[in-house]
Formats: sequence, structure tokens, C-alpha cells
Amino acid sequence: MNVLDQTEFDGHEAVHVFHDGAAGLDMIVAVHNTARGPAVGGCRMWPYSSGHAALADALRLAKGMTYKAALASLPCGGGKSVVLGDARIAKSHTLLAGIGRAVNSLDGRYTVADDVGITAADVAVIGEHTRFACAPLMADGNPSPATAFGTYQGILATAAHVFGTERLAGRTIAIQGLGAVGAKLCEYLANAGANLWVSDLDDARTDEIARQWQATAVPVDDILYATVDIVAPCALGGVFDSASIARLRCRAVAGAANNQLANAEAGRALAARGIVYAPDYAINVGGLIDLVHARAGNYQVSAVLEDCRGIYTTTLDILERAAKSREATSDVADRLARQRFRDPATLEGAPPVAAA
Ligand code: NAD
Repeated sequence: MNVLDQTEFDGHEAVHVFHDGAAGLDMIVAVHNTARGPAVGGCRMWPYSSGHAALADALRLAKGMTYKAALASLPCGGGKSVVLGDARIAKSHTLLAGIGRAVNSLDGRYTVADDVGITAADVAVIGEHTRFACAPLMADGNPSPATAFGTYQGILATAAHVFGTERLAGRTIAIQGLGAVGAKLCEYLANAGANLWVSDLDDARTDEIARQWQATAVPVDDILYATVDIVAPCALGGVFDSASIARLRCRAVAGAANNQLANAEAGRALAARGIVYAPDYAINVGGLIDLVHARAGNYQVSAVLEDCRGIYTTTLDILERAAKSREATSDVADRLARQRFRDPATLEGAPPVAAA
């Protein structure tokens, strides 16, 4: 398993492999970049098919955290950890303690948070063994309210760019996925007067949300292709490739789902079709903002929401730059993010939150 030869390797600062036989722990911590501050990122526990697959995931996710944090000008870098194993079977107090000891040995270079397989309650146990552990605080360890609020800000900015006004009254917005983020987003959008079209794999969930907001329930296979003003993907990643992009009937895409583009070409294909794409990691950063505030201490919900409002400005900036340079918004976002963690001059802007 040669780290440097991995496709996902992107000049990561450090990759740590931990084996703790007594705790039954095999864990990889990838630290991508700490130019803006110590790395922050969740710990994912997953039954990976191999150490190779686990390493690839850790490298990819850590890099994504750097880009997301940098674009939002947060005072943290990107890191991620993965634990090999099935959380439903192998997660134990002993294993969580082992994670805590492993993270602690990095002496603050990486702060661990929750992710798939590791809950906020698990992070509290990990935190008994290291002070470099934290969970979002706005809703007791649940980042989704902050993510939904931030995504709403991104949608407002997208509307302002595309329609010349951020007013959503009378606009039609299709929301794919009505889970923790999608459902909360519906509340913001409905209260702003938007007409909602909604869809979830769970029909009962779709009916419930449709009733709650007088929304139109749409079959799962049709929601992305609805004739609407904005499509907001809030379910899974990889939804946009050349085939799905050809079928879109909206003016803009702005949603919370991670990694919506199947590849870099998809961002350019959206631009070529004249569909404005608000880059996912620019507008779904609210949960990370919550986490960074939690890490810094002196936590105040109002301060988290205030920083989430900054997503409006960041999104509008990306969309305007892309329109001016005739580039894909995804390419512009990537370049801006890279500048903000590679160019020391951009680090001088006072970050909104003091690093821990
Ligand atoms: P969730 O698991 O609570 O909800 C996802 C919902 O999508 C579920 O109700 C599921 O049934 C539905 N779904 C799955 N496939 C679907 C399909 N093809 N069509 C319609 N519905 C479908 O997840 P969440 O926390 O709401 O996160 C949603 C997305 O936002 C994910 O991509 C996640 O990675 C991303 N995201 C979430 C956060 C956060 O704070 N939770 C932060 C950043 C990014």
C-alpha cells in the first residue's frame, strides 16, 4: 500500500496509520493541508473491502475538507479519519477509546468529529481520551440545521444571480431527498414563498413533507428533471453526468448533497447548457461552520448563523466570476479554494473564528 502512488494522493501533509490490537482498531488519519489552521474532519467507520479502499477514501475526504474550509475562509485545514470495520458490529467503548488515544497522539494537528458510523455520542466518548474531539453544537451534535440554513443562503444568492432578485416568492424549486437537511431546507424555502416540488425514496416521508408545505409530490425518477426554476439535490452524490445533465429542465442547481458532479467534466457540461450550478461544497459548508465554532469554544448559535450568511457572498462571488470569465462555476470554486490554502497572502484576512 504505497500512499504516494495512490490516485487520490494530492500532496497530503501526513497520513497516519494506527493499529491498536487491544482496542481492535485499524485506523487511517489523513491530513491534507493545515495552512489555514489545524485540520478538522469526521471519523468514518465503514466495512471497507481493503486497506487500499480505506486509504483512498481517507485521502479523498481529507482533500475535500481542505477545499470546503478554504472556500469559506474558515480557520482550519482538511483532515479525515477512517476506521476499518462495521460500526453495527465492531464499535465498542474500547474501540472509541483507541480512536481517542490515536487522535491525541497527533497533538492537535487533527480534530476528530462525527461521520458515517461514528455519532456525536461516540465523539463524546472519544473526547474522554483527547481534547481534540468535537461535535457540532447547534442541534446537539446534529450539523443539518446549520447545513440547511447555509444551503438556503446559497439558493438565495443563486436566485439573485440568475433572476436578478433573491425573492423566492413564486419561484418553483425541486428538492431531491427529504432527510435531515432537505426537510429543514423545505421549511426555509416554503417560508420564503417558493412553490416546492419534493421527492424522497420513502413515500411516506414525501407525503408528509408535501402535506406540511403544500408541496407537489414527485416520483423519485422525475424530480431532477422537473421543469422548475431551481433543482436542489439533497440526497446522494454523483447525480450529474452527461446523461442526466442532458435531461435537466431547470435554470439552476443549488443543493446540499456532497459531490453532486460525477466528474469535473460535469461542471463544464452544466455551464455549456446554460444551467447555473452553485458548487455543492460552497453552499453545504454550514455544518462545518458549526463544528469550527464548537471547536473554538464560547459557542453562540447567533454567531454560527452569522457566518453561514457569508455563504451568500461566497456563492454570488463564484457565480459572477464564472459568468465573467465564461468558466464552469465548479472550476472557479476549485481555483478560489486552492488560492485560499496555497497562497499565504489570502490567509491574512481575519478568519471569523479563532482557532482552538
Ligand atoms: P439523510 O440521510 O438524513 O437524508 C437523505 C435523504 O435522501 C433520505 O431521506 C433518503 O431516503 C433520500 N434519498 C436517497 N436517495 C434518494 C433519491 N434517489 N431520490 C430521492 N430521495 C433520496 O442525509 P442528510 O443529512 O439530509 O444529507 C443529505 C445530503 O447532504 C448528503 O449528500 C450529505 O452528504 C449532504 N450533506 C449533509 C450535511 C449535514 O449537515 N447533514 C452537511 C454537508 C453535506
